[in-house]
Amino acid sequence: MDRYLIETAHTAQDCQSLVDQVRASGYLFNFDWGCKSGVHCGWAIIEAESEAQARLAVPALVRSKARVIKLNKYDVDARSLHETG
Ligand SMILES: [Zn+2]
Repeated sequence: MDRYLIETAHTAQDCQSLVDQVRASGYLFNFDWGCKSGVHCGWAIIEAESEAQARLAVPALVRSKARVIKLNKYDVDARSLHETG
């Protein structure tokens, strides 16, 4: 399983229906939102087998424009970190 960041930018007009769709899909607990700060976007990090599967966690309302980003971590001892310093 890989980890994916889901970013669901939306308009203030879409906000309530988007949150309703996320709630209905069972992913509400996974999401954090910027809405009350005036940034209408929701973020979640989920585990999935593929980007396509991760995208299924995005409500249909914003699925086509949502960003789904496969995440990686760097080991603290990774040689690349020393080389970039
Ligand atoms: Zn919103």
